[in-house]
Amino acid sequence: MKKFWVSTLTLSALKANCAVTIAVMLKAYKYRIYPTDQQQAILTQQFGIGRFVYNWALEQKKKEYNEYKIWIQNPINEKKKFKSAFDLNIELTQLKKELYWINYAQSQTLQQEIAHLLHAYQRFLKNIKERKAQHKKTTNKKGKLLDLPKFKTRKDRQSLSFPQSVKVDFESSHVQIPKLGKVACIFSRQFTGKIKTTTLLKTVTGKYFVSILVENGKEFPERIEANKNHAVGIDVGLSHFATFSDGTKIKNPRLFKRSLSRLKQVQRSMARKKNRTSKNYSKAKLRRALLEERVANQRSDFLHKATHHLVCESQATTFCVEDLSVKNMMQNHKLARSIADVSWSDFFRQLKYKAQWHGKNVLVIGRFMPSSKTCSSCGYKLEALPLCVRSWQCPGCGAGHDRDVNAAKNLVNFAFSELEKIPAGQPEVPKVCSFGQACECVASVNCLLDIDKSCSGSRNSYARA
Ligand SMILES: [Zn+2]
Repeated sequence: MKKFWVSTLTLSALKANCAVTIAVMLKAYKYRIYPTDQQQAILTQQFGIGRFVYNWALEQKKKEYNEYKIWIQNPINEKKKFKSAFDLNIELTQLKKELYWINYAQSQTLQQEIAHLLHAYQRFLKNIKERKAQHKKTTNKKGKLLDLPKFKTRKDRQSLSFPQSVKVDFESSHVQIPKLGKVACIFSRQFTGKIKTTTLLKTVTGKYFVSILVENGKEFPERIEANKNHAVGIDVGLSHFATFSDGTKIKNPRLFKRSLSRLKQVQRSMARKKNRTSKNYSKAKLRRALLEERVANQRSDFLHKATHHLVCESQATTFCVEDLSVKNMMQNHKLARSIADVSWSDFFRQLKYKAQWHGKNVLVIGRFMPSSKTCSSCGYKLEALPLCVRSWQCPGCGAGHDRDVNAAKNLVNFAFSELEKIPAGQPEVPKVCSFGQACECVASVNCLLDIDKSCSGSRNSYARA
């Protein structure tokens, strides 16, 4: 079986345009680093220069957008030249002559900043185009354009990428970074392979991390053929985080809700402080950031454990999931917070890439399939099934159903009946969509990656998973 997979593992790989059309495995490793006071000072300066260049490039693109707005919306009249990364890099060299302090940063790092900005800008143009095609709003209530990249500020999380010259030393627990030298680092695990891009991060709470993208030279494992006997349907929901077709359920941890009262308390204490520049205000702000960080860590831990258990510790080789439009569902204000709290998008994203690592399949069912109201044993379809009904009996065959377990079983049935429809001669390789991501799409089924909007191609594609 030929493979044309694209490694899709990390966003940083995509941002850095590292998408390669051969099977290479890219993995990102994140470690906490402990820079000295002196190194922290240098880092603050480096982050500042990177931020300046990013904002400078964004300003150029914003100006360009306003100037050519009419043309961009309607690009038929004449050919217009827009500033590419190459043009901006040349302008940056000019700028360096005027502002000498830009030279304190590594030039490749600054080129990365420009590449990141252009990536964000392209995404913005694409979203605008999509919204226009669907006759949706392109501005918010204040009249500002949606999804337009924002200027970076000192108060946000800071990051800076180094495309090369980074070395790790596992024995002495150091990582060698340009301009900084050796930085103490705690390696929770080791890796082998070639270091691609390295990103330094500083969180709002003042912690430093290094994220290293590694190409380990290994190929993806041979894909296991999808088999109904080893398939698991996964139905996600709010009352239970996930329900499987074998009847097991994962409880919804409701992590945000658990910390909500404490968060409200901190938020109120922040609001009471009138002077926004005072020490007490910044202390309260830090408390809030720490709490938010804690919830985010808990959530990440929960999701990684859940997906790891599913993919690596179970006998199942095929996972059947439903394509949910999380973004649309979030527009329901009553449910938005709960939906954001369960983070299905991240769950599917992790499930997808972990399945790819182990040669397992993810089949995605279109979102309008009647998975809840169809009987999984005889196929009888109910007229309606209100959300409050948690269990029901089939009028056709008399089988008793738990709402969620029945839906999960149907996901498997639907996925395999779709899979059978694909002609035998179709290529077995996953189709690579416009975003350079490998999609395992079943005919007339949406792409899984569509869920987190990092991919929008391959709709109705005939690629066999
Ligand atoms: Zn039935």
